[in-house]
Amino acid sequence: MDRLILIKYGELTTKKANRNAFIAILTTRIAHVLHDFEFKIVKDRVRMYISCYDKDLNSILKQLQKVFGIHSIVVCHKVDTNKESIEQKVLELVNEKNYRTFKIQTKRADKTFEVPSMEFNRQIGGYVLKNTNLKVDVHIPDVMVYIEIRREGTFIYTEEIPGIGGYPVGIQGKGLLMLSGGIDSPVAGYLALKRGVDLECLYFESPPHTSFEAKNKVIKLASIINEYSSNIKVHVVPFTRLQEEIYKNVPNNYIITIMRRMMYRIAEEVSKLHKCKVIINGESIGQVASQTLDSMVVINNVTNMPVIRPVACMDKLEIIDIANQIGTYETSILPFEDCCTIFLPKHPIIHPELNRCIEYENRFDYASLIQECVSNIETVTDLNESNFDDLL
Ligand code: ATP
Ligand code: MG
Repeated sequence: MDRLILIKYGELTTKKANRNAFIAILTTRIAHVLHDFEFKIVKDRVRMYISCYDKDLNSILKQLQKVFGIHSIVVCHKVDTNKESIEQKVLELVNEKNYRTFKIQTKRADKTFEVPSMEFNRQIGGYVLKNTNLKVDVHIPDVMVYIEIRREGTFIYTEEIPGIGGYPVGIQGKGLLMLSGGIDSPVAGYLALKRGVDLECLYFESPPHTSFEAKNKVIKLASIINEYSSNIKVHVVPFTRLQEEIYKNVPNNYIITIMRRMMYRIAEEVSKLHKCKVIINGESIGQVASQTLDSMVVINNVTNMPVIRPVACMDKLEIIDIANQIGTYETSILPFEDCCTIFLPKHPIIHPELNRCIEYENRFDYASLIQECVSNIETVTDLNESNFDDLL
């Protein structure tokens, strides 16, 4: 195999105690996204090399740019550590495009190589000057040539492609993402994945008030963020009966508050069943009535589980930016009704009181309705994105 891709781990190298686990999970993830290609991985404690065929290079780079835990990706050339081989490869690289200026930067990790880095820069630079029309520019060169002299050989490259950073997905265990068909919750899920939290998703549907398309839209969104995980499942909760009881028993302005308290209760049960350590959702402070701080306090009161809200402090426009980057936006704006938007009260309360919530909830047997919801969950595991396109 002719090409070598160097993976720099970035952030995870700072976590010494966990390093082996990080590298093991990252390797598994990389092997998974590259399963269609022929490749070989060699790794050590600070970096990883993937050798592959030239023809596959671009497709492989595209896949690697979806793997959390990669700080940067470098396509490099490995040559024997001797001056002639290095000169020859450097000359080839500076001639690849129409560059006018260059700079050589040598790093001598293998100190048994006698020439100091600065001196080697001068020697190789001199060779390029003699054999091309290029000039040296030490400030803003058209091309930077990096030469890394290591024990196993010399690595030469000109370009470092940024990875998406973060931690390998799964290193933190799992969280339960409350996934609606909106813009915020898929972004929240993506940001949690980025911190190494793998996901299971929970979606509340209320047929016939919510449609089959609404559900498929949510599954499609899950399949888009699943490109960063491959393990995501969607648990679909039949919420209709509980929701209808809420409408029957609770004053109009408290309906959303109580509905969300029920969602949290169910989320806690499902988290315990599936070993999710935290609940994650797309709430953003002040966005709607149920997301004022007062509402959040009263709603959150039903659970002791930590609730992570990755977009809590973002503006809608910032959230939309991320949704566009990760490719969920177009799906999120499809106009199918969610259970939160059907029968929406005109004046939902923005400063709800806990004792009122408790009073209204005691008007009906919500505990058994919650159990009914949990035991009738349908779980979707095959999140192949293309399966859902036709259904929307
Ligand atoms: P999003 O916030 O994703 O854009 P939204 O604005 O329709 O969707 P909100 O009413 O703001 O949703 O609800 C806040 C959060 O509650 C959502 O981000 C999501 O995490 C959760 N949520 C709302 N509706 C549902 C649902 N039907 N199923 C699962 N989770 C939901
Ligand atoms: Mg929202």
